[in-house]
This record gives sequence, C-alpha cells and structure tokens, in this order.
Amino acid sequence: MTATILDGKTLAQQTEEELQSRVAALKAANNGKAPILATILVGDDPASATYVRMKQNACQRVGMESMAVEMPASTTTEELLARIEELNANPDCHGILLQHPVPAQIDERACFDAIALAKDVDGVTCLGFGRMAMGEDAYGSATPQGIMRILEHYKVPLAGRNAVVVGRSPILGKPMAMMLLNANATVTICHSRTANLPDIIGRADLVVGAVGRPEFIKGEWIRDGAVVVDAGYHPGRVGDIELASIADRAAAYTPVPGGVGPMTINTLMLQTVQAAEKASTNTA
Ligand code: NAP
Repeated sequence: MTATILDGKTLAQQTEEELQSRVAALKAANNGKAPILATILVGDDPASATYVRMKQNACQRVGMESMAVEMPASTTTEELLARIEELNANPDCHGILLQHPVPAQIDERACFDAIALAKDVDGVTCLGFGRMAMGEDAYGSATPQGIMRILEHYKVPLAGRNAVVVGRSPILGKPMAMMLLNANATVTICHSRTANLPDIIGRADLVVGAVGRPEFIKGEWIRDGAVVVDAGYHPGRVGDIELASIADRAAAYTPVPGGVGPMTINTLMLQTVQAAEKASTNTA
C-alpha cells in the first residue's frame, strides 16, 4: 500500500493565496488598514523567539501586520495581564498570540484566559475551549484545528472510526480529542499514566501523536491501513511517531516536517483574518 501524504505545507501555501485576497479586501474596506495580529513574547527562549518570528513572517506573506510585544523574562503576571488588557481594548488589534511557554513565575492560564474571546485567534482560552467542545462558535486551538483542516481537505473519514490521541495538553491533546469527538469519531485519549499503550494504538483507525518525545510511538504499534498524524517536531527532522516504518503500510500520514507544523501557523493566520472580517462587519 502506498500511503497518501497529508501535505500540510502545500495546503498552507494554497490557503495563503486565498488569505492574501481576503486581506486585500479588508484593506480596501478599511481605508488601507491591514488586519493586525499582536504577538507577545515573554523572556528570551530562542525556540519561542523563532516560532514568533515565523508567525510574524506568515502575517507579512498574506499582507497582514504584526504588532511585536516583547517583555523581559522578569515580567510578572500583573504586568502581562495589563498588556493583554491594553491589546483587548485596542480596536486596531484583531488577534492576540501569547507565545507558550511563559516564564515559570507567570500564571500562564490566567494570562491566556485574559485574552478577549473575539481576539483569541490561537484558541487558548478556557471559554473558547468550552464553546468549541459544545459545538458553539469559537476559534479552535491552532494545532488541532490545523490537523482537522488537513483531515477535512484529504476527506479522511472520521465518523464511527476509532481515533487515539496520545497526549492531553490544553493546547493540543485535549482540544484534538474534542474536535474528533465532534466529528463523530470514537475517541480514546492516552497520557503518561495510560496502561497498555501499544495495544490501544493497535486498535486505532487514526492515531494522533502529541507526546513531545522523539519517535516515542513505534511504527510496529500501528496497524496496517491506519491514518497517522504526527504533531511532534524535534531536532533531526523527526516527530513523535516512527514514521519511516509506516510509510508503506499506513493509509495516510502527515510528514515531518511539512505536515502539521505549517498548518498550525496557517490556522493562526486564517483565524486572524476571520476575526478581522467579523470586526469589519461589526463596525460597518
Ligand atoms: P506537552 O504539554 O508536553 O504534553 C505532552 C503530553 O504527552 C502530556 O499529556 C503527557 O501526559 C503525554 N505523555 C508524556 N509521556 C507519555 C508517555 N510515556 N505515554 C503517553 N503519553 C505521554 O506537549 P504539547 O505541547 O501537547 O506538544 C506535544 C507535541 O506536539 C510536541 O512534540 C510538540 O513539539 C508538538 N507541538 C507542535 C506544534 C506545531 O505547531 N507543530 C505545536 C504545539 C506542539 P501527562 O498529561 O500525563 O503528563
């Protein structure tokens, strides 16, 4: 069997072309003003700085502006909350991205939850998660929403399928499981205390790896014909799943790199454009 490659890179590029014209239309309707995504980077973690830069570059590619907010590693929860409140109140700012993780002394959950729902384009608030889980209007957490968009694009059937999500983080595993449940999959969520992980994965029609450990999920655990989604990215161009050994047995898989990563950033762009379109309609 030759697996279908779930090519997130190409899908993201195609979507960027569509976003460019939507941004151009927004500018034309708003006296030349482009939608703005505020990116908040706290501290000097080089990986976080790289992720923020990639998001700012993506804004530029689709014609949006980014507002770079950089705060020192010594920032307090109160200081960060105050900055988020300013951005919430700024009508020129359409989306707010708070780069995870923030330094340990900051209450990250409180800061995520301070982001106004209308500007929560990265889908990190409890309110947004709850609304999404209930099938109400909300921006999905960018990585799992990007994964849903790839699955939809490639018409991967989900209803009635056994989906196994390995990982239960607030930004990835948990919202992923809710999105798959809403798409009528039968969902199992695994984590560090799960017993018999290989057996559970062996029964999966769809496996999502969101563990954060290089090639932790072994190819031999995955049954022939499964759909494999790897959210991980580690040095050496590997993800959380041993992809090499399933490439000729899976029905489909997301490559690393070029699968989930580009779709995460693209979903952030898409949701910022959607937020700007809503704001533009509300003020028209
Ligand atoms: P995280 O917050 O560290 O969560 C990891 C999850 O894996 C936890 O729920 C943990 O379980 C579970 N886990 C750890 N060891 C396990 C084990 N031995 N067996 C089963 N489950 C285990 O990580 P994350 O932020 O969700 O990220 C997950 C992966 O996605 C990482 O590789 C990260 O780099 C990647 N990621 C990619 C993007 C992107 O844009 N492409 C964005 C975000 C994350 P417990 O809850 O029990 O501790």
